Amino acid sequence: MRLIAIAFVLAASAFAEPVTVADFARLHGLVASRDAASGRDLLKGASTIVLAPGMSLAVVDGRVIPLSEEVRVENGRTVMSAEDASKIASCIREGEAPRPPPRYEPEPRPASSPVVRKAPLVKQAPVAAKKPGKFREVVIDPGHGGVHTGGKGAKGTMEKDIVLDVSMEIRDILREAGIKVTMTRETDRHLAPEVRDDLEARVDFTEKHDPDLFLSIHANWAENKGAQGFEVFYPRAGCEGSATERETGRKLAEQIRKTFADRFDTPDRGVKEAGYFVIKNAPCPAVLVELEFVSNTTGERNLRDDGYRKRLAVAVADAVLQQSRK
Ligand SMILES: [Zn+2]
Repeated sequence: MRLIAIAFVLAASAFAEPVTVADFARLHGLVASRDAASGRDLLKGASTIVLAPGMSLAVVDGRVIPLSEEVRVENGRTVMSAEDASKIASCIREGEAPRPPPRYEPEPRPASSPVVRKAPLVKQAPVAAKKPGKFREVVIDPGHGGVHTGGKGAKGTMEKDIVLDVSMEIRDILREAGIKVTMTRETDRHLAPEVRDDLEARVDFTEKHDPDLFLSIHANWAENKGAQGFEVFYPRAGCEGSATERETGRKLAEQIRKTFADRFDTPDRGVKEAGYFVIKNAPCPAVLVELEFVSNTTGERNLRDDGYRKRLAVAVADAVLQQSRK
């Protein structure tokens, strides 16, 4: 009874300090564990919650809950902001959580009797979080692969490896958010030895899967070693997609640009129209992201950094999820 009172007061009044996942789990009768491979925290009980450091969202019972801040790791413990803890608390099922006996009970119920479901203590998830997104199926296209290395940095970094790693991370995040994701490649391979055939194979693959979004991931290269930053492309007029699809692509490109500009200290080269083969011929909204220049010293150093690549992936995925809900 006392535990419930404390839990309720904390949930209702919002935690003042950042909340550790362990404390949150304890308060809500959930069992917390961490998947060492992915670094994600899993809370299981009446509800299942997935939290990943670096992501500003939680997945609660398969629903994506946007958070106001990124979940982060402090002194080895995963923490979230007080506001976000309250938000997640408002979305979880309270059915099996320990609760006081209902007031109308004439006698205390025996300890072994099943818990009676009644109205949740706190309001349910915001309607927006429940709305099915418009990007139900996404094709992610890690550029190049196999014999096609893409751009190469001074330290030997190859674009094909960088973009595959970032794309796989985006894939995992979107799948956790309930989006069906297929990939043009998931290993270091080309789709055809000739460049033109390889690009056509990517378009054929996309046509076959008929997704709601085609997302091509690249890293940039330039003769001018001073060139640095990110840029995001959508199909120019006259491409395969309809005007509505172009507009959807433009809006997502802008969302990715904005998310990158907010999170990365590197030049914002903007959103641009382009006729690149894969986005030109995509039969759906299409976006091509140039993450950073592998030909730039700082750019290459960042792209070689595991944490930086993960942040890039999270930023792209966050932008896709935000636009999907609009
Ligand atoms: Zn490329």
